[in-house]
This record gives sequence, C-alpha cells and structure tokens, in this order.
Amino acid sequence: MKIFVLNCGSSSIKYQLIDSVTKKVLSKGVLERIGAGGSFLKHYSIYDYAIEIKRPVANHTEGIKMVFEALTNKDYGVIKDVTEISAFGHRVVHGGEKFHEPVLINEAVIEDIKKCIPMAPLHNPANLAGIKACMTLMPNAPHVAVFDTAFHQTIPAKAYLYGLPYELYIKYGLRKYGFHGISHQYVSEMAAKYLGRELAELRLVTCHLGNGASVAAVKHGKSIDTSMGFTPLEGLVMGTRCGEVDPAIIPFLMDKEDMTGKQVYQYLNNKSGVLGISGLSSDFRDLEKASGNGDERASLAMDIFAYRVSKYIGAYAVAMGGLDAVIFTAGLGENSPVIREKICEGLGFMGACLDKGKDAVRDGIREISTDGCLVKLLVIPTNEELVIANETERICKNIVFL
Ligand code: ADP
Repeated sequence: MKIFVLNCGSSSIKYQLIDSVTKKVLSKGVLERIGAGGSFLKHYSIYDYAIEIKRPVANHTEGIKMVFEALTNKDYGVIKDVTEISAFGHRVVHGGEKFHEPVLINEAVIEDIKKCIPMAPLHNPANLAGIKACMTLMPNAPHVAVFDTAFHQTIPAKAYLYGLPYELYIKYGLRKYGFHGISHQYVSEMAAKYLGRELAELRLVTCHLGNGASVAAVKHGKSIDTSMGFTPLEGLVMGTRCGEVDPAIIPFLMDKEDMTGKQVYQYLNNKSGVLGISGLSSDFRDLEKASGNGDERASLAMDIFAYRVSKYIGAYAVAMGGLDAVIFTAGLGENSPVIREKICEGLGFMGACLDKGKDAVRDGIREISTDGCLVKLLVIPTNEELVIANETERICKNIVFL
C-alpha cells in the first residue's frame, strides 16, 4: 500500500508518501506560507530529486492539489496517478478524551475533532483543513486520524487532574492531555526492540526534545504521566514556551505590563523559554555556539532547560517505581551531546551513567550509557510519519476484514 501521511499547520502542509510494505519514504516535502503570500513547496523524491516550486497557494485544498501535481509529475513524480494512493493518514493534535487510538474519519469523527478546537485552537482547525481538502479531492479513499493525545489516554486521574475544582473538569474537560504521543509511543517500542526485551516489562522515560519538548513516563508500554498538559505550554522550558510557571505570574504580568490575558498567553508561548532567558535564540545550535563564546545567558538557558528535564526523569522514576531506560529523541534530543550531558549530570545515583565516548558517535539508534550500567541511556531517532502510516494501514486492513 502507498500511504500519504499529512501533518497540516495553519499555513503549512508537511507530507510523506510511504510504501507500507518496504517502509520506504517514496516522496516527502513541505509546503509553506499557505494563504500568506510567497507560498513555496520543497519536494523530495526517492530518486534524489529535490525541487522548489514558488506559486501562490490560497488554501489547503489548493496546497494538496499542488502536492499531488508534484507526486505525479512526469519528470520527478513517484506515482502516475493519485489513485495509486491507497489511504491517507492525518496527524491530529488534540483528540480530547474521545479518542484513545487512531480512527477512520467520517462525519461524526470530524464533529468530535471540532469539539476539541477550544483545547487546541491553533492546531485542530489546521488539521481539519487538511482532512477536508484531502477528503474533497479523494472522497473514495480511506482517511485515518492519528492523534497526538491518544497515547496519553492511559494516564490515571491522579496524574491528569489539576488541583482545581472538580466541576471544571466536568464542565470544560480541564485536565492534562499530553502531546507528542505518536513519538513517545514509537520510541518506546523501538527501545524495547533495541534492548531485546518485552515492552510490557519496561519502565521508560522518553524525552522528546525539539522546539516543543515533553517527557513521558511509559510503564509497561503505557503512558502513565507526561509533562505537557491541557495545552502544549505546560512542563519543560522549551524553545519559546515557558513551561510550568507559578499561575500567579499571569495576573501579575497583566497588571504590571498592562497586558490582556490573551497577550500574556502569547508572551508565554512565543517570547519565553530559552529564547526569553537567553535573549538570543530559541535554537539550541545558536545557544551552544554563543555559550562556547562565553555568553552567560545562553549557558544559563541551556542549564535551565536541562535541569528541568532531569527533574522530570527523577520524578517519573518514582512514579514508575523504578527505571530501565531513558530515551532521547527529536531535533535536540537526537543531535545535541552537550544537552544530553547536562541532563545526565544528576542521574548517576540512579545507575544511569553517560559514556561520553559512545555519545560522540552519531548513528541511528544507539546506547550512550556506560557498559553494564543499571539504567540504559538511548538515543532513538523518532519517526512519527512511519507510525501514522503503520496505524493507517492497520485501521484500513481492519475495514477490509469487517
Ligand atoms: P519541531 O519538530 O518541534 O519543530 P525538531 O524536533 O525538528 O522540532 O527540533 C528542532 C530543534 O532541535 C531546533 O530548534 C534546535 O534547537 C534543535 N537541534 C536540531 N539539530 C541540532 C543540533 N545539531 N545541535 C543542537 N540542537 C539541535
């Protein structure tokens, strides 16, 4: 089966065409600046073609059409006709409490995804725009939604409820949902395979460290806690997001800086995190360079980031009653030995010791802990698109058998 995987943002479409048998990516790309002027598509194919097409794209339907043209282009396309695509897998950020696993999309599912818009106002409308565009263009193909929140639906009430009046949970669904579930699930499964052990017997802490960052406690294959919350703002200090802060800071800022609630929210989302602390950049490559040149605030931002990650690892070891492995993934988790070293500094007492020599080698899945140490430290490249493709295939196979 050829499966088209989509990750739609409000002004972007990221996609991959994956062969579900060979697991190979046949084509992938990103279309940016939809509806914003200056739209451009960067498209790559398995035949080593990389092309960039600039042309105005007003909405997601036009965007998908443009991607389809690239996929079927006679020079660099990988399929002759879009009907060769067997199924569509859509990443959906928020599935609320309704979705515990991927589902085949129908009108009722669309309505339920709409109901989650208040909890993910930036993400779910964009995901729905992509779903609607694809369903309009390919009405006869199966479309599957794979949710970022679903993996965390196993988190128990003692971990997902806030210290707020219970009525607010009933009235508004105010609780921790967690995100990056597709990635946390994937790296947990890969860790079990790599270690040659059953996932059902492992206690793992998975650290998805990218622009957005979250940590999850995965006990016996199930998420039992995670650092992001009602929205992706909670938890770790991130590129531009503050992570957890004292809620009293919000009215304080509204008063002192003469801001509205909405302005404070944007401030905490876009101007905070390591960008806000360093005053320099949200990108750790810039921070590492500046820190190397003696920039103290860049060093401080990295220390604060790493300290918070290591605190979560400690907390989750307690939550799981022990720890077998810590997994680092996503842009920063996979690529920054400096950050991994800082995070691991305090973990030695638990039997998690970093081997700096091993950590210098960059090559796919690898163990970076010292030989024979009690808690394994692993780097595992994430592959959310492959999970979406696999889940889409699984759901579609079930339909055939029904
Ligand atoms: P997202 O998918 O959340 O946008 P990614 O997982 O792609 O983010 O991670 C992007 C971040 O990873 C960058 O902002 C940067 O901070 C970090 N990063 C990527 N490569 C490196 C590297 N070689 N060294 C340090 N940090 C890196």
